[in-house]
Amino acid sequence: HKYVYDFAEGNKDLKDLLGGKGANLAEMTNLGLPVPPGFTITTEACKAYLTTGREPDGLAAQIEAHLESLEREMGRRLGDPDDPLLVSVRSGAKFSMPGMMETVLNVGLNDRSVVGLSNQAGGNDRFAWDSYRRLIQMFGKTVCEVPGEEFEHALDEIKSAKGTHNDLDLDADDLRGLVDAYKKIFAKHTGREFPQEPREQLDLAIRAVFDSWNAERAILYRRQERIPADLGTAVNVVAMVFGNLGPDSGTGVAFTRDPGSGAQGIYGDYLANAQGEDVVAGIRNTVPLQELEQLDKTSYDQLLGIMARLEEHYKDLCDIEFTIERGKLWMLQTRVGKRTAAAAFVIAGQLVDEGLIDLDEALHRVNGAQLAQLMFPRFQLDHEFEAVAKGIGASPGAASGKVVFTSARAVELAAEGEAVILVRRETNPDDLNGMIAAKGILTSRGGKTSHAAVVARGMGKTCVSGADELDVNVPAKRFTVGDHVVNEGDVVSIDGTTGKVYLGEVPVMPSEVVQYFEGELDPENTDDALVRSVHRIMTHADAARRLRVRTNADTGADAARARRFGAEGIGLCRTEHMFLGDRRELVERLILASGAREREDALAALLPLQRADFIEIFREMDGLPVTVRLIDPPLHEFLPPLEQLAVNVAVAQERGEDVAKEEALLAAVRRMHEENPMLGLRGVRLGLVIPGLFAMQVRAIAEAAVAVVRDGGKACPEIMVPLVGAVQELETVRAEAERIIAEVVGDSGVEVLIGTMIEVPRAALTAGQIAEAAEFFSFGTNDLTQMGWGFSRDDVEGAFFWRYLELGIFGISPFESIDTDGVGRLVRIAAEEGRAARPGLKLGVCGEHGGDPDSVHFFHEVGLDYVSCSPFRVPVARLEAGRAAI
Ligand code: ADP
Ligand code: MG
Ligand code: MG
Repeated sequence: HKYVYDFAEGNKDLKDLLGGKGANLAEMTNLGLPVPPGFTITTEACKAYLTTGREPDGLAAQIEAHLESLEREMGRRLGDPDDPLLVSVRSGAKFSMPGMMETVLNVGLNDRSVVGLSNQAGGNDRFAWDSYRRLIQMFGKTVCEVPGEEFEHALDEIKSAKGTHNDLDLDADDLRGLVDAYKKIFAKHTGREFPQEPREQLDLAIRAVFDSWNAERAILYRRQERIPADLGTAVNVVAMVFGNLGPDSGTGVAFTRDPGSGAQGIYGDYLANAQGEDVVAGIRNTVPLQELEQLDKTSYDQLLGIMARLEEHYKDLCDIEFTIERGKLWMLQTRVGKRTAAAAFVIAGQLVDEGLIDLDEALHRVNGAQLAQLMFPRFQLDHEFEAVAKGIGASPGAASGKVVFTSARAVELAAEGEAVILVRRETNPDDLNGMIAAKGILTSRGGKTSHAAVVARGMGKTCVSGADELDVNVPAKRFTVGDHVVNEGDVVSIDGTTGKVYLGEVPVMPSEVVQYFEGELDPENTDDALVRSVHRIMTHADAARRLRVRTNADTGADAARARRFGAEGIGLCRTEHMFLGDRRELVERLILASGAREREDALAALLPLQRADFIEIFREMDGLPVTVRLIDPPLHEFLPPLEQLAVNVAVAQERGEDVAKEEALLAAVRRMHEENPMLGLRGVRLGLVIPGLFAMQVRAIAEAAVAVVRDGGKACPEIMVPLVGAVQELETVRAEAERIIAEVVGDSGVEVLIGTMIEVPRAALTAGQIAEAAEFFSFGTNDLTQMGWGFSRDDVEGAFFWRYLELGIFGISPFESIDTDGVGRLVRIAAEEGRAARPGLKLGVCGEHGGDPDSVHFFHEVGLDYVSCSPFRVPVARLEAGRAAI
């Protein structure tokens, strides 16, 4: 079994086996780019190790063979005392998990080879001892779980003894002293000396990378990002190159375009005389990549050439890590880079313009979740709010909340329902919980590529990094900025686009993308690259998609907004709200009616009100289909709560008032009380029990349509009967409705369809029969999920869903994204059997799932005609329907 691949043997499509880092190192090697030689141990070896607890047979021998050939190529032997080869041992899973896994640099150094390394570097003792202390630190922390603070503490001590903050001020003797201190720390915590044998260092480091797959924070990150738990990580063993050899050396990171905005240009950070993580750890302040041109023009030009080459090759934004060793450029990593939602749209548009991808591909480079993010509101700034600091806009959005300084406090306050902003000097992987809990993240150190920035962007969470005017004091739980002191619990607002920080809560306004959807921004005539690109991609999605997109709207105003957002009809117009407010009294009269006469009076009073509501909606939709659902919830929902009513009656009786009416109401409420209202007298059952109720609604709908048409307008009503479980229910309602419609419509030319919601499992399972009496089905996936699983949406989320998510019983709440295996199967059966019984049966969905990206793909695949969702989700559904179709 082949467990080890030389870089020259791999390529970018082998991410499953070699991990992202290994596959891309191989790709760059084969492109002829300057990559230090090395090899990759496969994810299969990792998986075998994790299941059996030991390295698989043959692995050791294969590593030996590849190490030997690496040694031959480099002309050096691992850890050779006179002329050592050093390597890095780097984790790299299929999906990049920033900061989650472990890397050890300078493997192969020991008390003897440190001298050889110095000689190799022309007697550069400082460099050699710096490299050695880094090895002990990284090895101690990641391989042997020595607390990292202890090393940092020792380093700080030496620095303060020297009276400096800059690690560059430490000389060779200081660093030699530091190595001694580190070794003591190592021995104290592990009960053994720091391993001097190079091959043992290597093997232990490889094993530690394997183990890091199951580190707590890696597990947490995977759960967040929905990365499968069983992929394992690959391990890359790479010959070391040194950015810490002096001022003509250094290390950096770069993006081929701005990952925040998508703008073209040169984006990156560089740090001279530094190694590895120094750039992202915010240890010293980095310089913008452009300044490398002054420091080392040859390497700079070469780097820009390579970046252009990588973009053309990957046809996408790439991010890279590089090191310069004494004027020689080395590429250490590349991958298709993470980006903000805005950058995703802008870059997709640019790549089309550059001829690198077509519009179909552009549509795949963005998604509905990103579009939803771009529809978040922005800060509305006036003179009242002045920024107190400006950092780097690391991850966009507008977030306000109470300041907290620790991950634990963030989690605590968020659990109490508070919006919090996590403020740190810089974040590290241990802050992950707090970052998840926070509304936004604010750091005083680190650039666009810092841990905080990268992780926040990945989570779609607002982040301002490197706001260096902030003096953050975590133990004292406060930060100062200028003359202001901000304590834990004070409110701040951060703008992840501009990087600005405000005191207090800044009000918000609609984003430019929403302004575009509202028709307030002309996409053909704006210099806003994002709006232009969104428009272009949406237009393509609309042309590509088969699914129509409707909206859930109960009022003219909602309907109008949804149309501006692109809705092609109303898929769910609820009529419940038409019974609320000052109409409650009429409903009470209806419920309390002692005879047919009183009931008819009450219904007659409701009729014109309902008709007026429908006229407004039909006008607004101007001939687009409008599905009106007849009244669904149990009637007692329209009456006052039992306890309150009982108290009122008692008090009034005490005072000797006339309470005949209240007593009747109370009796009605008692009579109508249900233990399980969700499964009680509601939907079609109401229509069958209360004479005249559905008839009144049907009449109001038909009369409204006729009124609009007589006025020269258009109306296309579809009457939807809720909660049907048996075709007989629908047939009964239908017979009466058809009679009324025929009577009202006359020769007006109005056509009214009658159909049903499929939301009771029995309806899905008898869809063939029900289709005989229905011109359309609309899947009510909220109820179908409740009844399919047998749990109530209103009760379960807080009660036990968290546990189900934790245990992996759900990957995501089935109310958020449709459970395709179970509830989805019901949809599939009903669609197939319904269409078999009645070809041309219209099929739609009107649950919350209609606006969920994954669910939209499922509904496309099942062959529905349309989805319907809330107005703000309409653009998301349009985009995803387009993506599903190509
Ligand atoms: P991560 O996945 O956290 O980025 P990496 O494996 O990329 O971890 O390594 C951490 C740091 O060490 C990076 O800055 C990387 O460029 C640097 N590094 C890794 N291998 C080498 C090497 N062989 N020579 C020099 N620097 C290296
Ligand atoms: Mg890296
Ligand atoms: Mg329902």
